[in-house]
Amino acid sequence: MTEQREVRIPFADLFNVVVECACGAELSIDFSKEEARKVDWDHSESFACPACHKTFDSNLRLGFSKFLDWQDTVIESKQRISFRVKNPN
Ligand SMILES: [Zn+2]
Repeated sequence: MTEQREVRIPFADLFNVVVECACGAELSIDFSKEEARKVDWDHSESFACPACHKTFDSNLRLGFSKFLDWQDTVIESKQRISFRVKNPN
């Protein structure tokens, strides 16, 4: 029997992004929520770890902005998209 080495993740499940800080804390941003999508990430204030308050790399804001543009483009296409990732098990 062949072990399943990949898992398919539907595009619609990729809305929650977790940023891990060096201190071990995590910041979760749920882009399915309107308030997270409305942030002008390109021009927003820098954001920091909720635990140690260390500022995250400013390039992340640009990355989030592009991520949201990409999501909108894919959603508008109405094409069913999924990602194949390595099975963690
Ligand atoms: Zn931290």
